[in-house]
This record gives sequence, structure tokens and C-alpha cells, in this order.
Amino acid sequence: MTWHILYRGSLSSCNYRCDYCPFAKTRNTREELRADAVELERFVAWVERQDRRIGVLFTPWGEALIRRHYQKAMLRLGDMPHVYRVAVQTNLSCDTAWLSAADRESVALWLTFHPGETERAAFVAKCCALTRLGIRFSVGVVGLREHFDDIDALRAALPPAVYVWVNAFKRVPDYYQAAEVERIRRVDPYFDLNRRYHPSRGKACEAGHTSFTVDGTGTVRRCHFIAEPIGNIYDGADLGARLEPRPCTNAVCGCHIGYVHRPELALYELFGDGLLERIPARWPIDEVTAAADRRARALLVHRSGEPDEGSEDLPGDATAPSVDSDHVGEVRTHLLVERDERSAREVGAKVPIPKPAQ
Ligand code: SF4
Ligand code: SF4
Repeated sequence: MTWHILYRGSLSSCNYRCDYCPFAKTRNTREELRADAVELERFVAWVERQDRRIGVLFTPWGEALIRRHYQKAMLRLGDMPHVYRVAVQTNLSCDTAWLSAADRESVALWLTFHPGETERAAFVAKCCALTRLGIRFSVGVVGLREHFDDIDALRAALPPAVYVWVNAFKRVPDYYQAAEVERIRRVDPYFDLNRRYHPSRGKACEAGHTSFTVDGTGTVRRCHFIAEPIGNIYDGADLGARLEPRPCTNAVCGCHIGYVHRPELALYELFGDGLLERIPARWPIDEVTAAADRRARALLVHRSGEPDEGSEDLPGDATAPSVDSDHVGEVRTHLLVERDERSAREVGAKVPIPKPAQ
């Protein structure tokens, strides 16, 4: 069994000042940064002692990679044979030279571009530097209306192999018009997954079973959205015994780092080993496959009983196979085959079929 661990230490400062930032923008004193470094060192040493396959995602309150102790932790974790992935959410304002020492198989980045805080050309240049270094990364932007041109330009400037995701601005209900959704889908075919709050109460979630969060004191919680502790990695108890499948107790889940662990959404299948850094397993994909994939997921969500909030027109056919989390690939294939058959029929209607020889 693989553990997906989200680590959020006490670091809370950031060198950017994004208006839409959901986190407290504070300044850390030297003592606080030293304490954060000690906590991080302790966590890394704990991971080193584990004997199972582990993926770590750093989800800091602020910007971690401008701090040497996080850079060192990434390199050290990445060199551990049982750590298949170590990733971090970052604004990429750090120097990238330290990544030349990184294990290219395990170290990955979840980048967010913040228009207004940095120049697009400079950000793209840093992304290209990462590509030259062979570092895996995804790039995202908050989908505010005033960012749309930047999002398109970023997509055009980055190589097709780079997945660009868009986080929906959900604080304002019904923020997007249909044409705007279409525009964003052309950049991020999986935008609809993020555009909704997924009803979650009573539904299965890997959070608390194979995925959990750890804070600077070692306290374990199932996810960042449910405050109740379920253990502590330093208390000497068998953590594995405290991790078990349990239904979600929150009404909804609207954040990628949470709902990605809902089996019903089949996102482990979509992201594979790119789960933590948010890179789909099959990327890039063509527009037709992306549309079929989107429709398959819309059908999956629809049949799970969640209100679809108009996120995607559902397939009109009643012939698609019934769906559960194992079937999204099957449904995607079904929709692609159906599309091929339809175009074959359309071509067949136009091209006269030669009569067989008498
Ligand atoms: S870069 Fe991230 S953490 Fe920093 S202010 Fe912007 S959104 Fe907040
Ligand atoms: S669905 Fe979201 S809120 Fe609920 S347990 Fe999973 S990650 Fe946490």
C-alpha cells in the first residue's frame, strides 16, 4: 500500500501578495523559520524510517522553495528509494539551480503562475529551465476573468507536454459564462472537475486511509479540510493501525488535493503516478480524447447521484455502459468508438458504396 502524505509545517510567509490568496500572508521571524526547519528535518527523518512506498506533497501556507531547508528536504526525500514522489506547491520564485542535484524520477513541482506578481515571460523562461533540467511539473493559474488572456498566452508559450490546469474561482457562484468555460476547457480539459464542489458527506475517500496530512508537530489528520486529529507520527503508536477507510464527514469537497482521493471520481486512474504534482498519466491528449474523457467523467459523476451543476452536457445516449470508478476508461473508449462510428456513418452517407462485382 502506498501512502500519500501532505505535509504542511508552520511556515506561513510568502514573498508574493496575491489578492485572491486563501492563506494568511504573514512574515516569519528567524526563530519561526528555524523552528520550521527543525520540524521539517524531524519529518524527513521519520519518512526515512518507513518501509513502505510513499509520496509526499508539500502544501505550505506560504512559499517554501525560497527556503533552503525545503530545497534540502526535497533532495533528501527524492533520494530515498521508497519515496516514489516528492512534490511541492510553489510559485517558482526561487532560483532553480539547486534542482540540478534532484532525482529526476521522484522530484516534481506543482507550479502556480500568479499574474501581477511576476512577468509571464520570466515565469515561462524558468519553466523552460526546468524542462532542460528534466524536472517534471504542472503549471496552474487561478481562473479569474482578468487572467484569461494570460492563461491562453501561457498555454501557447509552454510546450504541449506541459499540463496547464486552471483552478476555478468558486467564491462567486455561477462566475463563469458558457463561452468562458469552453475557453478554459481548451486549455484544461479537466477544468470541470475543479469547477464544482463535490458533495462528499458519507462518501468514500482515501483520505484517512492511504492519504493523510502531517503538520509540523507530527499531528496526523485525514485531510486539510477536516480538523479532527487521527494520530501523531511521533507518538510511537502504530500509525498504520489508525488508518482505515472511512466516509467523508464534510458536506462538500472543492479542492483538488482533497477530492482527488475520492474513489468515485476515478482520479487515481486519471493521474497515475502524477497524482501529487497534478500531471495526468496520459498527457498531452488530443481534443477529441479530452472531450470524451470529460463526458465520461461527467457521466460518472451524474450516475453517482451528485448534482451536475451544468458542468458538462451529459451524453444523450442511453447505451453507455453503467459507470463506477473502475469504468471511466471503458466509458471513454465507448464514447470514442461511438464518435468514430458516427463519423464513419457520416462519411458513408457522402461516399457512394461501390456495388459488389456481379
Ligand atoms: S504565491 Fe501562493 S501563498 Fe503566496 S500570496 Fe500568492 S497564492 Fe498566497
Ligand atoms: S472528500 Fe475531501 S473533505 Fe472529505 S475526507 Fe476526502 S479530502 Fe477530506
